[in-house]
Parts: sequence; structure tokens; C-alpha cells
Amino acid sequence: MSIGLSRKVAYSSWMETSPATIVLELYDVQSNTNWITQLKSATGIADVSWQQTESDVVQARIQLAQAQHLGYRIGYVGKRLQLIITRKAAHTHLHDLTVAIDAGHGGSNTGARGVKSGVLEKDYTLLFAKALNRLLQKKGVKTIMIRDSDTAIDNKDRLLMLQPQQPDVLISFHLNSSSRPTARGTSTYYRHTAFRPLTQHILNELLEIDGLPEFGNIGSFNFQLVQPTDYPSCLVEVAFLSNEEDEQLILNEHFREKLVHKVYEGLLHWVKSLK
Ligand SMILES: [Zn+2]
Repeated sequence: MSIGLSRKVAYSSWMETSPATIVLELYDVQSNTNWITQLKSATGIADVSWQQTESDVVQARIQLAQAQHLGYRIGYVGKRLQLIITRKAAHTHLHDLTVAIDAGHGGSNTGARGVKSGVLEKDYTLLFAKALNRLLQKKGVKTIMIRDSDTAIDNKDRLLMLQPQQPDVLISFHLNSSSRPTARGTSTYYRHTAFRPLTQHILNELLEIDGLPEFGNIGSFNFQLVQPTDYPSCLVEVAFLSNEEDEQLILNEHFREKLVHKVYEGLLHWVKSLK
């Protein structure tokens, strides 16, 4: 969808759910349009409406044809503001999608430290990321590994690296840590409520692992890797390196294999839920 403007203006946008809607606000503008053209060929869009909500604010509401948000990008092409919405093909399978995998920290950015073993978060996030990468490739799913060695990469650079590759979904692995030694369990995080279903499907699967308690499904989380609206994303804080029982799990290779298998199953259930 695009909006013709006589000059570039400031705007903001956000996603709403039930029904899935993208709201776009343009500032310091007065609309001189009194009709709207709805194209049947714009199959991802159910309805577009707009109104002048304040004397200098125009709000457009773009209701999607699909029930769930899969992401959107917005930007100027010349003076036209263009909104590119990801829509789902009729029968999407996980192997039609590209999954970006992020191993948190790396290089001089070591992250948390194991309370007993002294192991570093950066080394174990990489083990989880590599295990998920191996499993997805075996299942025929395309993947992008943000890092596959012990290198320090800024979170901003991680996002810039992904931009031209446009993944369909992102999974970021971190290990939790708390000053409270009894804090333990697994958790998934989202920034945008519209992307919460992915994080719920993954957490539901993780909680089937014996001996892994729930820390929660946590929203509005201000972590850079889950900021983009371009694609759904999920931060997985596997367990706490600051808790002795959780640390034992993290150090166990069988646990790591089981965990990534559950992330894979969460992805499968989420894809199925898109219909
Ligand atoms: Zn971390």
C-alpha cells in the first residue's frame, strides 16, 4: 500500500490484533482525499480506512486479510510512503520460511557466567544456536546464522546484517541471570503484542521438558533484536546460569538437543496456527 504526499512528513505506525490491523499516523498533514480505491488484487488487505483524527494528524487503518501479523516494512520511495505487508501463502509450511538464528553475546561481550562452573553465556548461546541450525537444516528449513563463531557483534549490526536477507522469523538465544540465586526457569519474550503467538507456542513446548520450570511469557520487552516489525521474533531465555539446577541443565548436551527440538516444534505449531 502506498500514500502519495506532496512532501515527506513524520509518521508512526503500530500493529493491533483481533482483527490484525496496521495503524499508520501521518503528522503535520491535512488530507485532501475524499475517496479510497480498494483493489481486489491487494489480497493481503481486507480493508483500508482513514480519517483526519486531529487538525494536523491523518490516521490510516489497514486491516489485514489474515488473522495474524507476519510483519511489515515502511519507508519513503521518493515522496510516496510505502507500506509492504508480509502475507501468508495459501499453505505455508515451515520449510517455505527462512529462520534467522541469533546466538546472544560473543567475543569480548561474554554475557552472564555460570554460578558454579564459570562457563560463559556467549559460548552456550552459540551451542543452542548451532544445535537449532543443524536441526532446521536437517528438516529442510532455510536458516541464517547471525554468528557461528566467537565474535562480538553489536545488536544494531545484527539487525543491519539481517535487513537485506529479510528472514521470515527470528529466534534469539540468551541465558538468564539474576542476583536472586533461587530464580530459575525458562521464558520467552516479545516486543510487539502482535508477535506474541510465536513466543507462546515456543514456551508451551519448552514447558513440556521434564524439570524445566516456567519463568514466563514476557511482553513489551525492550530488547533490540525483537524491535523490528519486519518479521515475528522470539527471544528465548533458556534458563538461569545464576541458578545451580538450571546451570546443570544448560551444561547437559541432551538437554540442549531436547530444548532446540522443542523450539522447532513450537515453530511448527505456530506455522500451523497461521491458517
Ligand atoms: Zn544475554
